[in-house]
Amino acid sequence: MTAAAPMVTMPFPRRPKYGDAEITAATALLRSGSLSEIGRGPASAGLEDAFAELIGTTYALSFNSGTASLHAALNAVQHAASTDLVAGVAMSPMTWISAITAAFHAGSYPVFADLAPHSPNLDPAAARATGCSAVLVTHAWGIPARMDEFAHQSVPVVEDCSHAHGALYQNRPIGSWGRAGCFSLQESKAVSGGEGGVLTTDDRAVYEAAMTVGHHPFRLAAELTDLRLLPLTTAAASYKYRIPALSAAIATEQLKTLPERMRACEDNLAHLTHLIRTIDLPLQPVPAPEGSLRGWYGAPFTLLEPVTAPAALAAACKQANLPVRALYPDWMSAPLLQQPALTERYWPHMRGRWNPPDVRDFPNYQNFRKQTLLLKIPDTPAPGYVEQVAAALTITRQPS
Ligand SMILES: *Cc1c(COP(=O)(O)O)cnc(C)c1O
Repeated sequence: MTAAAPMVTMPFPRRPKYGDAEITAATALLRSGSLSEIGRGPASAGLEDAFAELIGTTYALSFNSGTASLHAALNAVQHAASTDLVAGVAMSPMTWISAITAAFHAGSYPVFADLAPHSPNLDPAAARATGCSAVLVTHAWGIPARMDEFAHQSVPVVEDCSHAHGALYQNRPIGSWGRAGCFSLQESKAVSGGEGGVLTTDDRAVYEAAMTVGHHPFRLAAELTDLRLLPLTTAAASYKYRIPALSAAIATEQLKTLPERMRACEDNLAHLTHLIRTIDLPLQPVPAPEGSLRGWYGAPFTLLEPVTAPAALAAACKQANLPVRALYPDWMSAPLLQQPALTERYWPHMRGRWNPPDVRDFPNYQNFRKQTLLLKIPDTPAPGYVEQVAAALTITRQPS
């Protein structure tokens, strides 16, 4: 008889998603009778100031989603560089779908490039080789991309920081390296407003152009100074991307607890890593580059032995009640990107121009998908729980 496989019996340790400070801020706003800010009202300004301070950029602009901030950023870098993104936006497929479609929204299109070896992030050399007009870098699963290696690109770089709030690379905040940084405040992210987004930039032209995509004419009239944009103060594209005041106020409170939540995640990951080494499991956390501080959206682990039966491994993880988070679907295989009729249905500028990607062109990406286990890490102290997770991870040992 074999011993029963260890499983996780404790519930996933979590703090209340929204604490008393968020509740107090939301209640105060409700009592004020003012939940909609057409200009840079107190709730939006509070969020924007707090983000600019955290990221160390001159400007931060709030949005009602991370997707909206990406659309606006890609639109704005074209204005700032006085060029259109005619040769597409280089990006890795290891991101959320709306970061991919944002390139279409901005009148351009995604050009996929492979991941760097042993990394969840875009390979700078592969990005450069595409000859694209811009690069979109996602700091996937909170692992900071090596932004200094993108600095030599002659084209604008936009960061998708939706997994990496508060992260650092070479001691400099993620979101301050590119022409613009984009953050989602959707509820699953490390800083939540329920829904929301923020764009960070040091470039006044990017800030103002991003504002013209979806902010209210009242705010445009108050802030635009760029002579090329001034005609838009009465009316601009009006996608309506501004953040609800409630979301802004809640996210501002969430930012205040971010450092302590990040520290708890760090401690739990360090403890788990130590136990994995002690038990000698064929598993290793994907390291953050030296001198960096990771963000949190699950922690990726490399499975050191070749995974021959991925479905069986997934079933065993579920059986053991492990806190596994699914990697994103392979968007490149989705009908939206494989059937030009669908792509062209939403983005008519792509008629006759869209070549569906071939998944075989991205071996590092395929390998990362196959050999990665993504675990949720509690953002509150969880000693006994981490022990149980480590014990249950013995299922990653291949039967011999
Ligand atoms: C969540 C997310 C987005 C989109 O953000 P929304 O706020 O949901 O629009 C974009 N990119 C990445 C990498 C994300 O995780």
